[in-house]
Amino acid sequence: MNDSIFNVNQQNSSVDAKIVAGLERIGEVFRTLLWQQSRMTGLSPIQIQVLLFLAFHEPAKCRIGYLAEEFNLTKPTISDAVKVLVQKELLVRVVDPFDSRSHSLQLTTAGQEIVEQTGSFANGISQLIGKMDGRQKTVLYESLFTLIYGLHQHGLIAVQRMCKTCVHYQYDGQIHYCGLLKIPLEADLLRLDCPEHTHA
Ligand code: SF4
Repeated sequence: MNDSIFNVNQQNSSVDAKIVAGLERIGEVFRTLLWQQSRMTGLSPIQIQVLLFLAFHEPAKCRIGYLAEEFNLTKPTISDAVKVLVQKELLVRVVDPFDSRSHSLQLTTAGQEIVEQTGSFANGISQLIGKMDGRQKTVLYESLFTLIYGLHQHGLIAVQRMCKTCVHYQYDGQIHYCGLLKIPLEADLLRLDCPEHTHA
């Protein structure tokens, strides 16, 4: 296993491996912060993530199938999480007026209160990023954007609502452009989660 990025000798001789190791540590910070919220609310991390997703996305995306793809989980796993949230009266199921077999999920007032309580769990990371200078942030964001797009292309991230996968995205080799909003997209204006995204 000499080529494992977890082999410290290999890691220290390769910037690629060090970047992956760094991303793993950041992922651990996210998990730790989420678990803190979990202990405070009595909800599991995925239940909190579902509530946060529902709070900030349109009803068409607030369905079991979409959530399963979004979080790379099976539909039964998401269904179990949703069942508990409904039992705790944090969510309600709303029947689709055009298809009574289909329903979307909506936060109750108590669900919104949990979102208020937990929604800033990652703000400490954002504050640290805020201390970087503008150029550093742009380079970091461009790199993350490219990496996330690559992971999506390799099937490791299922759902994407980013510019590069959008029908309105144009690129002439120099300038990124949004055909819907009719604006050039400077690197830091490219979006990772766009409400107007339409899959290309
Ligand atoms: S609609 Fe949104 S995702 Fe699509 S290109 Fe424009 S800004 Fe990007």
